Amino acid sequence: MQNIIDRFISYVTIDTESDPNSQTTPSTEKQWVLAKKLVEELKAIGMEDVTIDDHSYVMATLPSNVEHDVPTIGFVSHFDTTPDFTGANVKPQIIENYDGGDILLNAEQNIVLSPNYFKDLLQYKGQTLITTNGLTLLGADDKAGITEIVTAMEYLIKNPKIKHGKIRICFTPDEEIGRGADLFDVEKFGAKWAYTMDGSQIGELEYENFNAAGVKITFKGKSVHPGYAKGKMINSMLIANDFINQLPKGETPQETKGYEGFFHVTQLSGSIEETKLELIIRDHDMKKFLKRKELVHKITKKINKDFAKQFGEDIVITEIKDQYYNMKEKVEPVFFIIDLAEKAMKSLNIKPLIKPIRGGTDGCRLSYMGLPCPNIFAGGHNFHGKYEYVPVESMQKAVEVIVKIAELTATTDFSELEKKSKGKKKKEKK
Ligand SMILES: [Zn+2]
Repeated sequence: MQNIIDRFISYVTIDTESDPNSQTTPSTEKQWVLAKKLVEELKAIGMEDVTIDDHSYVMATLPSNVEHDVPTIGFVSHFDTTPDFTGANVKPQIIENYDGGDILLNAEQNIVLSPNYFKDLLQYKGQTLITTNGLTLLGADDKAGITEIVTAMEYLIKNPKIKHGKIRICFTPDEEIGRGADLFDVEKFGAKWAYTMDGSQIGELEYENFNAAGVKITFKGKSVHPGYAKGKMINSMLIANDFINQLPKGETPQETKGYEGFFHVTQLSGSIEETKLELIIRDHDMKKFLKRKELVHKITKKINKDFAKQFGEDIVITEIKDQYYNMKEKVEPVFFIIDLAEKAMKSLNIKPLIKPIRGGTDGCRLSYMGLPCPNIFAGGHNFHGKYEYVPVESMQKAVEVIVKIAELTATTDFSELEKKSKGKKKKEKK
């Protein structure tokens, strides 16, 4: 456990905040510091083919130690932290044998991490927690994932009796600003499938995420002196308002959960002459996703028709761009990779928590780039803020899951499993 704690702290005390306004990759120079440290560390523990490319993607290989053919698998994490909350000067606190009560993160500002509000804390009574000092995020998202992958590789190198095939690992920059997969060289990585170690609480296993689109709408108007405006003025802000009102009620992020999709207005700014509206569309179900996009076009058309005479040209201009898709479609044909992860967890007495992601992951992008890539827990809670914490025991379990998946991959007959996966798919179609 001490090994995990020391390693984790050595990563989170390096600031790697990414920046959505930067055009470079990595988006911030400081991400190089951790990337280069990881290269040295991977070499030091005995990994092979340790590489870092021009965009700071770190890759390495653990060669197979068996004679027979085993599919190459991969593990992936990201080393940047979110720009939503500061990641500079992280001062982790270690709470041993957590007693189930309030944790005072910062006495000066009276910042308390309390199980009254964060009920998940109670399941970690008696465990060792790593928290912030109340002033920064922790960076367990996703330096817990990196810690786990490095520790698991080190364990496999030190314990050659555990048999495994070839394992590839990759650490990426800029996941938090949605660009972690952009320059990921899937071919160079060369794995048949991979897992991102980037989920939250122990047991999480995720292979379904949203289908996602972004919508940009411009409403035009006509400004006329309000005293003489009757029949002449067109107020673009009111048209935008009318548009929003035609979206289905109750289908917003704050009113939905589970598999329920939504429309989410993210930006609205305007004047009489011109109003700009941005929204995002999310749905796990492809048919419903397409319907949502259709509805936006329908409302656009209707308003354009209503104003056709008065305005002379289209008064609403709508642009919809798909952002990412549900990885389920790419994971289902190889569903044994989920079975494998589930089996690994169960054999370690971890209850698999399979639930749909209400967002996207780098794994979903990678899945569409040819690398099926579900997501496994890394152990942390309350990501992207000062209440972030991670139980060391959960990180230890994640290490064991990685080792177990490696082991199971070397002993599983995949031809049988592949048949089963295909059978499952056929059944579902019926
Ligand atoms: Zn993450």
